[in-house]
Amino acid sequence: MAYVLVAILLLVAIAYIAKPFLGPKPPTNNPSPNATPTAPVNQVPVPDFQADSAFMFLSKQVDFGPRVPNTPAHKKCGEWLVRTFKQYGFTVIEQKVSAPYYKGGYMNGVNIIAQYKPELGKRICIAAHWDSRNEADKDTKDKNKAIDGADDGASGVAVLLEIARALQKNPIDIGVDLICFDLEDNGQDGGASETWCLGSQYWSKNLHTPSYMPTHAVLLDLVGAKGAKFYKEGISRNVAPQFVNKVWGLAAQLGYSEYFINEEKGGITDDHLFVIQNAGIPMIDIISLPGEGDHIFGSHHHTHADDINIIDKKVLKAVGQTMMALIYQTHNGVM
Ligand SMILES: [Zn+2]
Repeated sequence: MAYVLVAILLLVAIAYIAKPFLGPKPPTNNPSPNATPTAPVNQVPVPDFQADSAFMFLSKQVDFGPRVPNTPAHKKCGEWLVRTFKQYGFTVIEQKVSAPYYKGGYMNGVNIIAQYKPELGKRICIAAHWDSRNEADKDTKDKNKAIDGADDGASGVAVLLEIARALQKNPIDIGVDLICFDLEDNGQDGGASETWCLGSQYWSKNLHTPSYMPTHAVLLDLVGAKGAKFYKEGISRNVAPQFVNKVWGLAAQLGYSEYFINEEKGGITDDHLFVIQNAGIPMIDIISLPGEGDHIFGSHHHTHADDINIIDKKVLKAVGQTMMALIYQTHNGVM
């Protein structure tokens, strides 16, 4: 042991003495700083997230009528989503899903996977669900009528569409996948988790790219209503604690601590649960949990109050700008 120590000390001493004699490297005739092994990233400023535009994308979805699977409104809205992502230069995969409905029969849907620069390996994934609920089971009247789902469904997708628009205008050199899951919201209240999130259950077992593993994965749900409060959700904290803290820290830096609360809440069954379980992708969920007990998602949840009047552009802005910063700062090597 002593010999080893002496030998190490000798080597360190030789290295130290030898250093002054090494001298400067000969000139390489290459003045470009880009000659270094890793070329510096072309920094792109974080674009401003346009809440007015996101609100327009939200209204458009609501105008189709409730996006209930197996209905014409659902089909038309899906076609519009595909067209719109393509219009912004995205490559779109339509993944058809047919899954048993817990009340009987089948629900037919389509997961819409919109890819920005699909050829690139480094990718960020942001997801939301685009279908809406076929009943207002938490309301006191018209319980059997489908809800508008302005917040529950349309808000997350509106943020994705606005990100798509911004990416086309402000190009970057990393890939972004904006995934609209279908068949999320027609599960059994109080029933088995597996009656919900049928689209993401299918996708997570049938990934559009084998071994798909994005650098970051975020789910957006209920991201548009007045009084939204985004707590650090339990499953997200469990699977990606550091990333959750990063995102909440980013929101705080941007001045959105009013919405992104630096406190923890329990786990919620949502699309991210199945993405984590089946695909092993550590997806976190940004979901408004402003209440307690039966109203954990807010009093408008699964009622007819979830219409366009519940939407607050300031909430869309807070979530959208935070996601924009996540994408561009990751590209710029800051995140
Ligand atoms: Zn819902």
